[in-house]
Amino acid sequence: MRLVSPLLKHAVYPALHRSGCLDRITPTGGCSVVNYHGVIPANYSSDDIFLDGNLVRPDIFRQQLQFLKSHYHIVHPDHFRAWVEQDKPEHDKREQGKQLPPRSVLITCDDGLVNTLTDMLPILQSEGVPCLFLVTAASCSDNPGMLWYEELYQLMRAKPLGPDQQLPPDETEPSPSSPSFQAQWWSTVRKASRLDAKTRTAWMNKVRDHCGNTRALRSEKRWRLLNIAELKQLAGAGMSIGAHTLTHPVLSLCSEEEARREIQESKINMEHALGTPVWAFAYPFGNPSTMGDRELRLAREAGYACAFLNVEQWGSDRSNPFTIPRTHVTSDTTLPEFAAHLSGLHARLQRAVGA
Ligand SMILES: [Zn+2]
Repeated sequence: MRLVSPLLKHAVYPALHRSGCLDRITPTGGCSVVNYHGVIPANYSSDDIFLDGNLVRPDIFRQQLQFLKSHYHIVHPDHFRAWVEQDKPEHDKREQGKQLPPRSVLITCDDGLVNTLTDMLPILQSEGVPCLFLVTAASCSDNPGMLWYEELYQLMRAKPLGPDQQLPPDETEPSPSSPSFQAQWWSTVRKASRLDAKTRTAWMNKVRDHCGNTRALRSEKRWRLLNIAELKQLAGAGMSIGAHTLTHPVLSLCSEEEARREIQESKINMEHALGTPVWAFAYPFGNPSTMGDRELRLAREAGYACAFLNVEQWGSDRSNPFTIPRTHVTSDTTLPEFAAHLSGLHARLQRAVGA
């Protein structure tokens, strides 16, 4: 949802939204999927929109849910699963042929930040809306900490990395041409994703020693991941849980062995911790620069029923259950923009201009 021209965002989509035109479009693909990353917790004030822009305000989240309730058919994750699995030969015959109503939408939320339990769940419950939460296997532990790449952002912002923390340059990836702070950080995230998980953890400890410990962050609800007790509370409240790797690396930069482990063991660990099948997977970052055909194959081989992207388009095969597009909602997403993306109009316009 980032590449929206100001003309579309501020003129075209509001006009189409007001006129009701967007309500008359039936999205193709059978079911729209919307993706969140949590809500801004109460009493949290942002001083850097770069990462916080992935969360939405609670009042905006409620407004979007109410829009979906009145303009779409919100599907339960279990029904979505039955729908994607209907062509599997071994699937229960009673479920075969199951169709979703027109203008169906599934609500998902990635990463498993603790605010999904404290601030997002109460809104979902009061609106009577189910959600599929795709979380990392860090949430199967008692002390999950933060997402490492978000912590790295905070650490690098507190103090630039020194020579001892720099990772070796990678010839296959040119250094960022305009090294803004965000570009330097992302380049470091990509290099660190090439490390196996154990080596990356050791390297993060060195970075913490150098930059200062940011674990005592201003807002635990903003940054910390759900622990296992909290994840069980979310599941116990009727929400569905899927997997999002073990450690959230850029999968395409991992060795095949590491990528397989990230995808497969997160499923196994979560099934063990929750005692229920984990059938859905979301690729970390979920865009063409962070994953490719190898990751689709590994997700299929791991036994998931489907896997979600974090973009609205992927190739030409729109029926592949391992490349399910999603509308990524950010803090600056307006309601008309939300409606235009969900209707499929935005993706169609992008395809038309070859974007
Ligand atoms: Zn994620």
